[in-house]
Amino acid sequence: ALTAGIVGLPNVGKSTLFNAITQAGAESANYPFCTIDPNVGIVEVPDYRLNKLTELVQPKKTVPTAFEFTDIAGIVKGASKGEGLGNKFLSHIREVDAICQVVRCFADDNITHVSGKVNPIDDIEIINLELILADLETVDKRIARVGKMAKQKDKESMFEMEILEKLKEAFEADKPARTVEFTEEQMKVAKGLHLLTIKPVLYVANVGEDDVADPSSNEYVQQVKEFAEKDNAEVIVICAKIESEIAELEGEEKEMFLQELGIEESGLDQLIRAAYSLLGLATYFTAGVQEVRAWTFRQGMKAPQCAGVIHSDFEKGFIRAETVSYDDLLTAGSMTAAKEAGKVRLEGKEYIVKDGDVMHFRFNV
Ligand code: GDP
Repeated sequence: ALTAGIVGLPNVGKSTLFNAITQAGAESANYPFCTIDPNVGIVEVPDYRLNKLTELVQPKKTVPTAFEFTDIAGIVKGASKGEGLGNKFLSHIREVDAICQVVRCFADDNITHVSGKVNPIDDIEIINLELILADLETVDKRIARVGKMAKQKDKESMFEMEILEKLKEAFEADKPARTVEFTEEQMKVAKGLHLLTIKPVLYVANVGEDDVADPSSNEYVQQVKEFAEKDNAEVIVICAKIESEIAELEGEEKEMFLQELGIEESGLDQLIRAAYSLLGLATYFTAGVQEVRAWTFRQGMKAPQCAGVIHSDFEKGFIRAETVSYDDLLTAGSMTAAKEAGKVRLEGKEYIVKDGDVMHFRFNV
């Protein structure tokens, strides 16, 4: 399963956030394909469309889809030099598919900051630099090997060398690989290098309790947003401390608490959805009277693969998929009405599933 790793310097609020994640956590019994590991938090993906479909179909059961956050502890300065925990930290990052970097944007004199004062851009740069240095090492090693072949005019090696040199140039200017512009062909090769800084990133600005309702008044948040723009990254503002309180609530209680705080959606819910799309994930639905359910697929996946998310037999024996978009189904008001209106399509093996498709698979057993 795809997972988003949570990183950050010490004392920025990572553990507090991760606790909120596990508190709000989904019951793993519903998601047998998820990892069971104390460093992995399974979260349900909030989706208003699932509520609407439930109202429409009135099923016995509704099941949201879920995905995983991994807690990656222990970044230290010098990680790229492989000191102590450093190596371990980098290898954990290598295993995740996207990075959520928690950045301290709250002032609290009682809580020590590792660098002595709150400075979110410095914090981000400390971590980014370690990752860039590790990638520079990867690229240098590769250049040493590929460079010889390129000198002998080996076409493939020459092509790769161009990419490696572009990357090296970026790294030496302290820029991550995700900011380098590549053609589609070059991108394929670049991805094969398994670089750390090519992974998509979002910054989680952890603000104090007083800033939740109006985070734009927090100057640190502004700084992070400006930085993120140059870094091809998104910013989500949360207050980890409050999130851990929200995570204990459900339904109406949660709504009321959010209202009191003056916010529409909890920061954690925003973070979940942002990380989900950062990972290139999307949702399709099945909507039967027994169960209305959301399923996760990777953007670009075809109908049989998506059927395989439910069960491998569905993929093997795939015949076709009755498909209606969520919007068309809602407008029609029922599956029967959608069929009468000609909105239900029969899609075959080559159909690329879209976010929000409501699907019914036909398959041979
Ligand atoms: P970690 O080292 O990054 O895992 O940081 P922790 O989650 O342990 O948080 C460090 C300290 O900061 C703890 O005392 C938390 O209670 C406190 N803290 C975390 N988030 C917030 C916040 O949003 N506001 C305030 N005031 N304190 C926070």
